[in-house]
Amino acid sequence: MSLFSKFDVLAERRKALNDTGAKPFDVVVERIISPTEAIVNGRKTIMAGTNNYLGLTFDPSCIAAAVDAVTAEGTGTTGSRMANGTFAIHGALERDIATFFGRRSAIIFSTGYLANLGILSAVTDHNDVIVIDGDCHASIYDGCKMSGAEVIRFRHNDADDLAKRLRRLGSRAADALIVIEGIYSMLGDQAPMVEIAAVKREYGGYLLVDEAHSLGVLGERGLVETANEHDSVDFITGTFSKSLGATGGFCVSDLPELELIRISSRPYVFTASMCPSVIASTRAALRVLQDRPELRDKLWRNANRLYEQLRNLGYQLGPHPSPVIAAMVTDIDEALALWTGLLQRGIYVNLVFPPATPKGSYLLRCSVSAAHT
Ligand code: PMP
Repeated sequence: MSLFSKFDVLAERRKALNDTGAKPFDVVVERIISPTEAIVNGRKTIMAGTNNYLGLTFDPSCIAAAVDAVTAEGTGTTGSRMANGTFAIHGALERDIATFFGRRSAIIFSTGYLANLGILSAVTDHNDVIVIDGDCHASIYDGCKMSGAEVIRFRHNDADDLAKRLRRLGSRAADALIVIEGIYSMLGDQAPMVEIAAVKREYGGYLLVDEAHSLGVLGERGLVETANEHDSVDFITGTFSKSLGATGGFCVSDLPELELIRISSRPYVFTASMCPSVIASTRAALRVLQDRPELRDKLWRNANRLYEQLRNLGYQLGPHPSPVIAAMVTDIDEALALWTGLLQRGIYVNLVFPPATPKGSYLLRCSVSAAHT
């Protein structure tokens, strides 16, 4: 075994894929035109796989805030939050986020991926147990791995299966950390929040909800808000890279221990903090999210329309209409032909392969924006 022999299988698979002519992992946005249009392969293309739910990447107030910040505070912080990388605006964004969610405190991370990694690895260690929905995002799986905790998966969106697993834990359930998502990133389905919260109240434990895809999409704040389960949820994590059109991640909580994460979380301590311009556009986007509910209405009109029409065409979709709409295809050749055919006709969607997909299917994953017409 050589150092690189582990890549042999991957290299073979990539070659086989490239030989078909489809290159789903090599798409280059040659020029971005708007939240929903770009030049790809020299052609004007509708971007229908971007997570740009509210279409805020070109919002004039977000751009102006970013430009003012880069002019006033420079291009980067060149340091970790723990050293020279805490500027006043980092604290301001944390206060905005805490106030927005009605929580005691908020902590921001350089990406959403790091938020999950940073919280899970700091809150739990090898003495603890984390109980996660089987369809959770890679950042949650990686956070579990980094924590060293025992990890138990329950069947996707199955509150009874969660209850069964907590029951088996006996007295350990009272300190288990349960992790779910508001909207799941692959099929766009929502967690059964009320049922899961009831199980948590019965068996104890702490509940973390990742609202990466639901912030600004389900109500203003996500599924915890629309399900009215504020009091059952101990941690909410999320990202600024989807509905808020920037990059960065966050966690909010009423638990006073959240503040200690600042000195114990390696993904918080050992990376450079968010750039001033990114903080500024995120803060502006958070204001737009609250001031312009019509964007969310438009997003849902678009989502319902695409979901209904794809379903009428006979595609197998996720169980709920959502801004994430994925057509499940079992045959790789069909998936590649559909993806390539769409791109040649000027429509970009995500092509997602197993094992990132549920049930070993291939997904043509569309994401809808309020900016689509
Ligand atoms: N959580 C979920 C559920 C996600 O889908 C993603 C990104 N796809 C992340 C976290 C990570 O967010 P970011 O891209 O901002 O790192």
